[in-house]
Amino acid sequence: MQPKMLSLIVPVYYEEEVLPESYRRMDAAMRSTGLPYEILYINDGSRDGTMKILRGLAKEHPEVKVYSFSRNFGHQLAVTCGMDHAKGDALIVIDVDLQDPPELIPEMVRMWQDGADIVYGKRKKRMGETVFKKFTAAAYYRLLSAMSAYPIPLDTGDFRLLDRKVADVFLKMREQARFLRGMSAWMGFEAVPIEYVREERAAGKTKYSLKKMLRLAADGILNFSSVPLELPLTFGIGLGVLGVLGLIAMIVCTAALGVACPQWLWLAVGGTLLFALVFTVQGVQGLYLGRMYDELKNRPLYIVAETLNGEE
Ligand code: UDP
Ligand code: MG
Repeated sequence: MQPKMLSLIVPVYYEEEVLPESYRRMDAAMRSTGLPYEILYINDGSRDGTMKILRGLAKEHPEVKVYSFSRNFGHQLAVTCGMDHAKGDALIVIDVDLQDPPELIPEMVRMWQDGADIVYGKRKKRMGETVFKKFTAAAYYRLLSAMSAYPIPLDTGDFRLLDRKVADVFLKMREQARFLRGMSAWMGFEAVPIEYVREERAAGKTKYSLKKMLRLAADGILNFSSVPLELPLTFGIGLGVLGVLGLIAMIVCTAALGVACPQWLWLAVGGTLLFALVFTVQGVQGLYLGRMYDELKNRPLYIVAETLNGEE
């Protein structure tokens, strides 16, 4: 039997400062697994010296493969391109900036060999990041996991190892707005965490602008939660109940007790009921929209993780 092969997927965006050191550490980590491997760099539209360094690496090392985008498509699409082209039996996604320690890779590979389908990095601690980033990240992950229909593990990024069968499912999911850690949670499989301290960036500045971060955060919520779509319905039903109760109380007052209610009260109750109707209709439309969105994503209907005596 051929030994299993590993693919390391590294998205790169304006990273000339960190790239040489990053390659050294990642290559050493991959080598120490003892398995054949390839390293796929995806240049996400960098116009600095990144490509020059990558050309040099690819020339010297046949296991280094480079895919260079025509422009910046974003981190999640760069990782997707890497997955599309990876040949390995296990795929490892890692940031180039050494915030995810490559030295963890041999341990992740061992966990995979012991049967894990997904090994995901779980951040115990974040070093050298602003209080703002730490706070917003912690708050966001908690909000997301509360809103999501599928539990997305807290404090995890895209640093993870995927078995080939998991990667093959990924390849079938071609949705435009991609939130990989959510898609990974949606797929299920045997996912095991590996805890680590998220280091400071080895060199350079973050390439995730606030705008990019907000877009990713929105993708996470919009793709994995129908709460925003259903909110008007809940609101509409609530208002409706309130309006009907008010109406009953007022009818009882006038008809049974003979107390006349002021005109503005009738108007207020009428207004409440009208708003209830509008919100309810919006909410119902939201339900249809959510379904259309699900259909459009055209995800596999189910995922078989294992077959016994059946056909593959
Ligand atoms: N990256 C990318 N395209 C982008 C932004 C970032 O490929 O548009 C890469 C970047 O080179 C790095 C990874 O995605 O390998 C994570 O980015 P970064 O470290 O800047 O994000 P942070 O760790 O600050 O969230
Ligand atoms: Mg980083």
